[in-house]
Amino acid sequence: MSAAASARQILTRLHEIMAGRTHAQHKLDRVVEVIADSLNSEVCSIYLLREGALELFATQGLNPAAVHVTRMAVGEGLTGTIAKNIETLNLAEAKAHPDFLYRPETGEEKFHSFAGVPIVYRERAVGVLCVQHVEPRRYEEVEIEALQTTAMILSELIAHKELVDDEETITFGEAHTETEVIEGLTLVKGLAAGQAVFHQPRIEIDQVVAEDIEAERQRVYRAFDKMREQIDALGKEPEFGKGGEHVEVLETYKMFAYDEGWSRRINEAIDSGLTAEAAIERVQQRTRMRMREIDDPLLQDRMHDLEDLSNRLLRIVSGQLGTAATQGLRRDSILIARNLGPAELLEYDRRRLKGVVLEEGSLTAHVVIVARAMGIPVLGRASGVRARVSEGDEILLDADRGTVTLRPGQQLLDAFETRFAKNRERQATYAELRDVEPFTRDGTRITVMINAGLRDDMSMLQLTGADGVGLFRTEFQFLVSATLPARDRQLRLYRDVLDAAGDKPVIFRTVDIGGDKAVPYLNSQVAERDENPAMGWRALRLSLDREGLLKAQARALLEAAAGRSLSVMFPMVSEPWEFDAAKKVFEDQLEFLRARRKLLPEAVEYGCMLEVPSLAEVLDLLIPRISFISVGTNDLTQFLFAADRANPLLAERYDWLSPAILRFLQRVSQATVGHPVRLGVCGEMGGRRLEALALLGIGYRRLSITPVAVGPIKELVRKVDLGEIGAQMNQWLLSPPADLRAELKRWAEQRDIEVD
Ligand code: PEP
Ligand code: MG
Repeated sequence: MSAAASARQILTRLHEIMAGRTHAQHKLDRVVEVIADSLNSEVCSIYLLREGALELFATQGLNPAAVHVTRMAVGEGLTGTIAKNIETLNLAEAKAHPDFLYRPETGEEKFHSFAGVPIVYRERAVGVLCVQHVEPRRYEEVEIEALQTTAMILSELIAHKELVDDEETITFGEAHTETEVIEGLTLVKGLAAGQAVFHQPRIEIDQVVAEDIEAERQRVYRAFDKMREQIDALGKEPEFGKGGEHVEVLETYKMFAYDEGWSRRINEAIDSGLTAEAAIERVQQRTRMRMREIDDPLLQDRMHDLEDLSNRLLRIVSGQLGTAATQGLRRDSILIARNLGPAELLEYDRRRLKGVVLEEGSLTAHVVIVARAMGIPVLGRASGVRARVSEGDEILLDADRGTVTLRPGQQLLDAFETRFAKNRERQATYAELRDVEPFTRDGTRITVMINAGLRDDMSMLQLTGADGVGLFRTEFQFLVSATLPARDRQLRLYRDVLDAAGDKPVIFRTVDIGGDKAVPYLNSQVAERDENPAMGWRALRLSLDREGLLKAQARALLEAAAGRSLSVMFPMVSEPWEFDAAKKVFEDQLEFLRARRKLLPEAVEYGCMLEVPSLAEVLDLLIPRISFISVGTNDLTQFLFAADRANPLLAERYDWLSPAILRFLQRVSQATVGHPVRLGVCGEMGGRRLEALALLGIGYRRLSITPVAVGPIKELVRKVDLGEIGAQMNQWLLSPPADLRAELKRWAEQRDIEVD
């Protein structure tokens, strides 16, 4: 019999059992009977997770007295191993397995063969379904498949309390009650409280057993068609520029979307009697299970793509569309996700979104930069958080200390409230500094500017009293837009920004897309051809190749700045000619406007980001051509250390206060001495007090930082004596101590300079 046929046979019989009016235990007893019979097995047992242990809930073939008596821990024995690893075991000789554990009360000593599959609900094992046989034999693939399908149905039935009594507290997703603290990595400091909201809401599968197989098949066909249409549409967005070329679709997505094997497996699952939703989920579960066995990071990445597509298909077929952002946040919320893109974060309502907890994430990933700009605390690398939290749970996010507390009790809530109050007090102190100019103790005026990227950010300029915008990330507009922002939309934004800034300067950086700032409409070629997108076709490289993009942006900026000054900065310049080429695009546009007698900017000045180490080697050639340099320490660090800024495994590995970086930055600073070029830092490093102290010590006088850091940095500046820290940094960089961070911290503490 085929896998589909044998699963269908079981399903039909399960259906009959479910329709019966008997109580839950009786139904469960019948279920094991049916499975044992259908798979021609002498034993069939169901273990379910109750109060943290796997308990035998029903058996056909083992000693009935063991029911609700035999319990084992997750990870204990074969059953526990299956639940722990969420894996299938198929053994001709159970005793030969290292995890075999004999439980005398069950009377299972005579059975040799054993096959077990996890009962999985929302990616967590909540039980185990297993069969045993006296004769040593391995179960066939079709039998295992039938078991897995049955396990899936059981999980849904159990979750909907159709196979267990109401009072039986099976540990399911929603059964979390205890307070738990998960540690993570602070990505954006701050405190927040709110209800857990999953970025990708779980699709509720209401019905698992199909009533009309043909109808389910049609639903899946239609969903596939729609999904393929959506994927194809992504690639058909008209590209800017002269060629009128079209963007290609992300090949991986396309490959999966059109993969015959995938749709066939879903169809087979429907053949076995599942609804379209259940069939998609069933195939996805099987894939997840396979992936757990393969330890290949490249393949794992591909599997994330397939997982995304599978969720998309599930959303289409079930009509449950959108992320939590599209559904809208109803209360103060803490967002839970594996990872997020910057554009996805921007879709949320800022008033209700109080914090973000990610299972992945790293300090300089763009989503984190966006969150910082939005003033939203983020905790990253909170491993396993998605499995340990349920939608709607109360959460306290303490991104200052790097923890998230799930389901806190009243005492914790009170303690948190005290800290909130202290925080507010501190914020008030910073607010008082708003109109205070940041002079060092020895009388040097430090320029403190903000990084911005959205219209809304401009209000921070007044609120913080910063000196201007040292980095306006123009790509944010591209990230939040579903299609390429047309020139007039760009113009409107730039004009609004300049209006909001008044007489404070704004440095506009031309688009830096590509890398971890992927925009679907622009170029999927980027993501797909670039094995290392951060080092790939991004930022100015992309803008120079797609001249239409840069031209449009140049025109928009020049027109927006008509009658006032314009500062333009190019990202990721690696060699001086790239700067020249980009500047020429602007100068040509200026000529174009002049020829048409348009009102021109009063002055246009050009500068570079220094993010690529190669540029530091040719500063003597570059400096005479530019007005300012802004060091982008986020990218610079990843290139200096060859460590991907978005890779969570490397997030804590290298320190901004390491001699390698500081010596490098010091050299750059020394190279500009005596030249009429303004030097600053606009990477995240400058917004951290200890790092900023080091930067001041090696000659940096201009910092462009995240708005929330302006108060703390101003406070720092006013306590520093540049001569003193300069001499100390010189000494340390000539002969670095083992732990420069610790030394610097001690140095600051001795002088009562707060640096945390
Ligand atoms: C940087 O690389 O430091 C920088 C400021 O640019 P972004 O973070 O936008 O890449
Ligand atoms: Mg950068």
